[in-house]
Amino acid sequence: MLRETRIAAVRSEIARWRRLGHRIAFVPTMGGIHEGHLSLVRLARADADRVVASIFVNPLQFGPREDFRAYPRPRLRDRALLRAAGVDLLWEPGVADVYPEGHRTRVRVRDLDETLEGFARPGHFEGVATVVLGLLHVVMPDVLWLGQKDAQQALIVERLVRDLLLPIEVRRGPTVREPDGLAMSSRNAYLTKTQRADAVALSRGLAAALDALQRGERDAGRLRRSVRSELKARPAVAMEYVAVVDARTLQPVKRVRGRVLIAVAARVGKARLIDNLEWEPR
Ligand code: AMP
Repeated sequence: MLRETRIAAVRSEIARWRRLGHRIAFVPTMGGIHEGHLSLVRLARADADRVVASIFVNPLQFGPREDFRAYPRPRLRDRALLRAAGVDLLWEPGVADVYPEGHRTRVRVRDLDETLEGFARPGHFEGVATVVLGLLHVVMPDVLWLGQKDAQQALIVERLVRDLLLPIEVRRGPTVREPDGLAMSSRNAYLTKTQRADAVALSRGLAAALDALQRGERDAGRLRRSVRSELKARPAVAMEYVAVVDARTLQPVKRVRGRVLIAVAARVGKARLIDNLEWEPR
């Protein structure tokens, strides 16, 4: 696995692969590598000749009171895991590479960036869209792999790529979970033992909603209540929101008719955790 920080070096290596006609896949991350990231690398590996991954803790997507400084940065471990999963080139830019002095440009995907996580974390998706567009302009992959774990982020990036006419295929990998159902996240490292036990409420709540959907429940209010009752049963969990929205517009629905996203966010100790499910009636 090659490892680079400088943009020019990344570009020239990728240009060399391009001349060889290689198909290139890209998996951007913030590090704190876990099975969720590695599953994306393996999916990428399966139908590309070369896999590029990046590790960049993007300051622009963190709010002033958020965990930018505390965000896990176990770099040696991250590199070993990505190498073993089959990454060909790991790009680890510094903040000054991505945001050169005087950087002023911001990218927004309107409306989609104002609900759910965008409402809870103002400016978050502007930070995400801005960095992703920059990273894509350096790597210019054929395929970009994103996780369903961050469904709103995936939707926003899909729209960004489409709206700006980028010749990139965006694919989503399924959410990878711990054996008890907790969605894997770098932020799970913040949890104490009891918080970790209670954090299972998010996926349990979603499982309860899925069960209700499969039994024919279509009322959004009752679906939200089925998620909330799992969250309320756990003392360490402070719910932020449970939403049932149209999976394409992210606007709330009253009844489930087409494809829906059920999204949940909660604070558990120092960690702010999110999870979701997408479901469509047949
Ligand atoms: P992050 O490092 O958290 O910014 O995530 C980098 C990429 O990995 C994003 O596309 C995430 O959606 C994806 N990802 C994070 N956690 C998971 C998970 N548990 N399962 C699948 N993909 C994930």
